[in-house]
Amino acid sequence: MSALSELNQEIELCQQCEIARRRTRVVPGEGAENAAIMFIGEAPGWNEDQQGRPFVGQAGKFLEELLASINLKRQQVFIANVIKCRPPDNRDPLPTEIQTCRHWLQRQIEIVRPRMIVTLGRYSMAMFFPGKSISKIHGTTQRQGDTIYFAMYHPAAALHQGNLRQTIEQDMLKIPEILAREEPVKKEAAPPKQMTMF
Ligand code: URA
Repeated sequence: MSALSELNQEIELCQQCEIARRRTRVVPGEGAENAAIMFIGEAPGWNEDQQGRPFVGQAGKFLEELLASINLKRQQVFIANVIKCRPPDNRDPLPTEIQTCRHWLQRQIEIVRPRMIVTLGRYSMAMFFPGKSISKIHGTTQRQGDTIYFAMYHPAAALHQGNLRQTIEQDMLKIPEILAREEPVKKEAAPPKQMTMF
């Protein structure tokens, strides 16, 4: 069994916070174990909670379109969320929930070791770019060690604020050139990486 499948089994058993008891399905995340890019959203919504898969509703449809714009399919990247269970009534995740859940994301990052982590929305951005404002840093990168961090608006933002759609599309189109520009990481040669969240 792959390291990710083993981890998923652990995540599925997680009861570390209150919202675990209210979920229909846990949503660990999915994608290629050797993905070069990991997209990190916020939290599962209703559709994700029903299916146990990330980004399968309207925001997911837009994310797939964005991926297609850079010739990627969702199976070629890894898609995860900051928290793995749906907050009731789609409320924002609580700081305690984010804190309790973050070790799962950390382990996913350690297994996949993506070259690039793309944060989708404020909650994901706050983990890697603390104190920053999404309106200022979207579309920009920060590099730490071998990993490139890239902040984007959440795809759902385009569904609520139509004027952000173009911004999100343009930010996505920057990804291939950033990857081409940055020194490739030799995955096999790199030592096991300790995940750092800033
Ligand atoms: N929004 C998210 O942040 N994550 C999902 O999985 C779906 C919608």
